[in-house]
This record gives sequence, structure tokens and C-alpha cells, in this order.
Amino acid sequence: MRHAGGALIEAPRADDDAVLRVHGADYVNRVREGTLSDAEQRRIGFRWSPAMAERTRRVSGATMAALASAIEGCGVGVSLAGGTHHAFADHGAGFCVFNDSVIAARHVQALGLARRILVVDLDVHHGNGTAALCQDDASIYTFSMHGARNYPAVKPRGDLDVELADGTTDAEYLELLERNLAYAQARARPDAVIYLAGADPYAGDRLGFLTLSKAGLRQRDQMVFEHCRRYSMPVAVTMAGGYAENVDDIVDIHLATIRCAAELANTAGWYPPVKPPRVFACSSILE
Ligand SMILES: [Zn+2]
Repeated sequence: MRHAGGALIEAPRADDDAVLRVHGADYVNRVREGTLSDAEQRRIGFRWSPAMAERTRRVSGATMAALASAIEGCGVGVSLAGGTHHAFADHGAGFCVFNDSVIAARHVQALGLARRILVVDLDVHHGNGTAALCQDDASIYTFSMHGARNYPAVKPRGDLDVELADGTTDAEYLELLERNLAYAQARARPDAVIYLAGADPYAGDRLGFLTLSKAGLRQRDQMVFEHCRRYSMPVAVTMAGGYAENVDDIVDIHLATIRCAAELANTAGWYPPVKPPRVFACSSILE
């Protein structure tokens, strides 16, 4: 399917090689065969089904393809899912089964497309799985801005964790982001970026507890993409969380993120803007 200024593409599946760079073989087998215990399924937040196992593969596949295509000349690639940052090596949690960010980062490293990756995690929840998976991996720098008192209760240390008070406003958030993005850039010296553009810092989110407006979230996206352009870095964008009372608000916020990415990708100065952006679609229907 062709769209103005970009292409919408069915998400490919992440293969075993890609998944096993991040997750243990026993856990991967339990997800494949549907032998996750009741406790494991409760921790993930949804029941196993063949469709759940298939979708899990495609969520990671979408982010892998988004990052690879961004590096290979699109400048920006979008995964219409992903941001499953609560997944650890041997278990899932919080609606996350496999960790698509780390799978995608190690995938492009294995292909020789990038050496150093910066994960900019602006979902309102801490990327505990990503932080734990990358604790001993200096090639993936994890930067997370999240609610200090929000889920998860235990937050393993990432490379740069910025804790936000309940009620944090647009102005406070954007000031912290600008400063810490510059710091993360200097520390990480990345070849490519994975951006978790969560919709859940929104004031209308049921689980967020911050007070960002839609305009503030647009400025957030713009700040991240302008940053990537300034340093000529390809970026993969994932959607991560969004739990607004009104589903239309979540769609508005995610769509604004994709529009912002596409606009900047089409302007001069991005990492080689030789191909239109690609958007990898992954159905969110579980049953
Ligand atoms: Zn979240």
C-alpha cells in the first residue's frame, strides 16, 4: 500500500535468531508452544493464544524493520506497535512479551548497520525490561523519562533515568527533555535512535498521572526528531503505551507523532533522505 510520502507495510515476523539474542530459549519456547503458566500470563496481562504468539513476533519484527529501513536510507521508520519495554530476558510483564527495542538494536548490530544505539523511552512508565537487558551492554544506551511513583514499582537502573513528579506540566517536561537529550547524546554517541513515543504522558491518560497537553506532546516529538536530524541519525519510532479515556485521543497523539516524523524526514538535512519513510503495521487484535 502506498501513501503520500511513505509506505505502509505489513510487519514481518522476528525470527528465532533475532529473539534469542535477547530472550532465553526456555521462555521463547513457552511463548511459542503456549505453555506459559497462569502466573506468567497474569504478569503479562493477557492470555496466550496462537494469535498472541504471532502478534508478539510481528511486534518485534516491525521495530526491527523500522530501524533497519531507517538506517538503510529512509531516515525514519515507524512501527505501529512496539515499545514493549517491560519484557525481560526470561519473562514478560505489563502487556509486553518480547522486548522489541533490544531485539531491534541487536538485529541491526548483527547486520553491521549500526554499532551504538540510543533508546529514548518517553512512555510514561519506566523501561525496566530494557534497562535490565542492557545493564551490561555498553553499545545500547537507555534513556527513560517516567513517572517516579508510577508502574513498575522496582525500576532497575538504566543509563539515564529521569523521574517525573505526578502532575508534571508541558513546560517542566520539555525543559527536562531538552537538557537530558543533550546529555544522553554526549554519553551515548549513537549511530541510530529508537524512540518510544508513548501517548501516556497525556493529561487525559488513565494511567499516566502527568498533565501534558496534545500540543506539549507534539513539541516533545518535534524535539526528539529535530535532535535526530541535527545529528544526522536515523530513527525508528514505536508507539508504546496510551490509555486515555477517549480512544480518539490516543489515535490523535500517535498520528501526530507519525506526521511529525514524516514531515521532518521529507525536509533536507536528515540522515540520507533517499527513500520515503516506511510504516510497519501490526494488528492489535489479539483474538
Ligand atoms: Zn506506558
